[in-house]
Amino acid sequence: MSDQQQFDVVVIGGGPAGYHAAIRAAQLGLKTACVDAALGKDGKPALGGTCLRVGCIPSKALLDSSRQFWNMGHIFGEHGIGFDKPSIDVKKMVARKDGIVKQFTGGIAALFKANKVAAFYGYGQLQPGNIVRVKQHDGSEVELHGTNVIIAAGSDSIELPFAKFGEHIVDNVGALDFDKVPKRLGVIGAGVIGLELGSVWNRLGAQVTVLEGLPNFLAAADAEVAKVAAREFKKQGLDIRLGCKVSNTEVKKDGVHVFYTDDKGEQEIVVDKLLVSVGRRAATKGLLADGTGVQLDPRGFVVVDDHCHTGVDGIWAIGDCVRGPMLAHKGFEEGIAVAELIAGLPGHVNYDTIPWVIYTEPEIAWVGKTEEQLKAEGIPYKSGSFPFAAVGRAVAMAEPIGFVKVLAHADTDRILGMHLVGPNVSELVHEGVLSMEFKGSADDLARICHAHPSLSEAVHDAAMAVHKRAIHKAN
Ligand code: FAD
Repeated sequence: MSDQQQFDVVVIGGGPAGYHAAIRAAQLGLKTACVDAALGKDGKPALGGTCLRVGCIPSKALLDSSRQFWNMGHIFGEHGIGFDKPSIDVKKMVARKDGIVKQFTGGIAALFKANKVAAFYGYGQLQPGNIVRVKQHDGSEVELHGTNVIIAAGSDSIELPFAKFGEHIVDNVGALDFDKVPKRLGVIGAGVIGLELGSVWNRLGAQVTVLEGLPNFLAAADAEVAKVAAREFKKQGLDIRLGCKVSNTEVKKDGVHVFYTDDKGEQEIVVDKLLVSVGRRAATKGLLADGTGVQLDPRGFVVVDDHCHTGVDGIWAIGDCVRGPMLAHKGFEEGIAVAELIAGLPGHVNYDTIPWVIYTEPEIAWVGKTEEQLKAEGIPYKSGSFPFAAVGRAVAMAEPIGFVKVLAHADTDRILGMHLVGPNVSELVHEGVLSMEFKGSADDLARICHAHPSLSEAVHDAAMAVHKRAIHKAN
């Protein structure tokens, strides 16, 4: 028989959403427990979820390693730097990535300790009556009763029925751990994960073919941003094919055969590794015992209201397992907001100012509405854009690609969106986030002093361009 322990808050899942909720709840004086089932590559419990183990952080580690390698072959020469042929030790690169993962997953455990969050390592199932039954990795069982329970179970890769994961067909987990550069890499899905991991291996020398089902490239992004990105990816050798419906795969001696149809008919490619990145699904299978009252939608997401409440007394859900963008920072904010709501504070998430970033080369980022959305919604707007080619710092860095675009309401001048493609735009997008959060106008942004020379001058001039007064280009 399992013993029962009492908490103010029990969090199921120690990923970005869950660990933020747990730490904030503990900061607010609530007795908090967090249950997480994940194990690291060393077989030991590893907090931090998809993001720290097999998502955001390890992908950025490999993106950075591969970028250094690419720059040696393609950019260093411009600076007058010469060297013998660059080489890549993939095992060392992956080991560096693993070291970073270990450092950060261990960091969450240390933060739990410092904040007195009780960690339970094992699989938690919600029972009726706010009880979480945990099957711990050592085989024992424990029951945790929470006045509040926060479900933060996250997401898993979607597996296609005709492309089962294994040695040759992989998801993000496998594609972060190749032991050598595949000669030919196929990618199904030109979304964020497909483009980022496709870029990693392309930069290291793989011949990468990306098959995307939709007819438009990066349909969620601003159309001009997507156009620049597509052009640059093509230059880098990424072969992105649109409107491709993949129907089957076969693993044979000479590689993985991928069968698809496009507007020209039936096609086949043969690759050494195939990355399937067609989206992620909520990890809610087996999470709820009968009778909890918590509802799942037809796709398995936990149904919640605008405040992440499930409608069952004291039960909340956050992060990838609920509606909204599957982004770590969206989960962070939901975790903090729910902990604050539980403590009687006015927790809140502004879903209209969540930034999106794709860490390719060039980087892609945006916040707010695209021109296409504004047109569809009949919102009158003005647009100002500015190219990095006219920014001294970008040219000095030998990265004069892309632009910043600011969209503002035609009548009120309030900023409605910012769209960026180019160097370091993962950082620059936050000027848009901050401006929108403070309900700023394009004129506000245009009148804020930006350091010279800096990449942020592209944001400044784009805001000035909204009123046709950009200094460094013809308006
Ligand atoms: P998760 O991170 O999935 O964490 C859920 C945790 O709960 C896991 O540890 C899981 O083991 C545990 N769990 C689940 N069910 C139970 C249970 N019943 N009992 C106990 N434990 C359980 N997002 C970004 O914002 N920026 C990026 O650059 C970015 N890059 C990415 C790159 C890749 C390759 C991938 C795959 C994802 C990336 N993401 C990125 C998405 C990001 O990782 C997710 O949005 C984020 O991790 C979601 O956080 P979460 O806490 O909701 O869920």
